[in-house]
Amino acid sequence: MSDAAWPAPPQGSCTLPASVEAEVAILGAGIHGAALARELTLRGVTCALVDKGEVGGGTSQWSSQLLHGGIRYMLTGDIRQMREGLAERATWARIAPRRCRWEAFWMPHRYWAEGLAHRVGIGLYDHWGAERPGWPAGLSLGHVPKEAFLADPRGVLGPFRGATAYADLMTWDRELTRDLAASSEAMLLDFHEPEGFEQGDGGLKLLHLRDRRDGSARQLRARRWVFALGPWTDGAMAQWFGETRKRLRLSSGIHLWFDAVPGCERPWAIRRPKGRILFVVPRDGLLQVGTTEREVEDGWVPILEAEREELFGALEANLPSLPWREMLVWAEELGVRPLVAATGATTHLSREAVLERHARIPNLTLVLGGKLTTARALMDRLATDLTGLRCEASTTAPLRLWDGQAAEIR
Ligand SMILES: Cc1cc2nc3c(=O)[nH]c(=O)nc-3n(C[C@H](O)[C@H](O)[C@H](O)COP(=O)(O)OP(=O)(O)OC[C@H]3O[C@@H](n4cnc5c(N)ncnc54)[C@H](O)[C@@H]3O)c2cc1C
Repeated sequence: MSDAAWPAPPQGSCTLPASVEAEVAILGAGIHGAALARELTLRGVTCALVDKGEVGGGTSQWSSQLLHGGIRYMLTGDIRQMREGLAERATWARIAPRRCRWEAFWMPHRYWAEGLAHRVGIGLYDHWGAERPGWPAGLSLGHVPKEAFLADPRGVLGPFRGATAYADLMTWDRELTRDLAASSEAMLLDFHEPEGFEQGDGGLKLLHLRDRRDGSARQLRARRWVFALGPWTDGAMAQWFGETRKRLRLSSGIHLWFDAVPGCERPWAIRRPKGRILFVVPRDGLLQVGTTEREVEDGWVPILEAEREELFGALEANLPSLPWREMLVWAEELGVRPLVAATGATTHLSREAVLERHARIPNLTLVLGGKLTTARALMDRLATDLTGLRCEASTTAPLRLWDGQAAEIR
């Protein structure tokens, strides 16, 4: 783990006492850690949420920001994962309406038979995902009329003859993660560096922490421990417990944010070789384009020129009517996907998550892999497992909006 890569903490100091205690300690405040904190709070169980950086400051702020069934699973045949994602999409639209926006994504086709195949596949996707709370009546699905297609600058000069529209849900990933944390009563220990554990017969007992803001020491005691460290999991297990087994494979993906292009109103999802999708999405006054896939070794890695080139190449091949290399790039971002280890190319690795009960440390569970979309459902399952309590409110209780009061006891 390269320490230099971690963003510097803000000024100020934490108001928590030097010694704190909770039923469950969660390490990692990405979407999984934050969702678990909400689940535990809904069950009346105390927890602490620890992060070396800020809430939502890891992979959960660099995703493609879709709460979706995954249209690519229609191509790879992973129908079970797709249907789980579609069901969860409806839950997010109910509990986080202010962080969600329904969209009609256009999938363009090159020739007639491809268009027919898209219409059948997309028909099934939208049929299985028919539960769409808050769907705006103005958005149309299915066949995109020729005049609408040609009115979009992406629809001219390129290899595409038409498009089919399907429904999906866009979000703001970091804000959604922060809202989950704000919807919990967790003690928030952000910008805290874990320095060492004390163990007893039942497993982990105590964690020594250092507040990265002012260097002060803090201790956290808990009965159960959950590590939701995303792509940093293997590095942390090596550093803290000397474990060399690789649980994850890491795959980076980049997004480029271009100046908005007049006339590009709907997001496009373009099929690429190997079951991959090129997203070209107008959002927040810009045009977001992604993504790529490269196997990497750490949660912090720089963008390579080859990754940029891959995106530019895909854009030029598929949408040649726009002068991509002359257009202003406002921002570039790279996120690292934590994928559950297996052999084969990372493009074909499942995005499914695994909850691992640690073999040697009985009160420790590791969250491995996963997606934004299924994080709530997975953490609902984990919280039920940890507490023995089911919670109906998890799928209905609206999220509270994050108010920025990160270091206070909530
Ligand atoms: C390019 C890309 C596109 C994606 N698109 C989508 C999408 O459209 N839809 C979707 O559902 N999913 C998508 N995903 C997947 C999704 O973003 C991730 O699976 C998810 O954000 C992982 O969340 P997490 O909580 O497990 O990890 P993270 O968000 O990385 O959280 C881990 C946290 O642990 C903290 N941490 C790390 N080390 C330590 C330490 N030593 N001590 C304390 N804290 C530590 C980090 O600061 C971080 O906040 C995408 C991922 C990528 C990379």
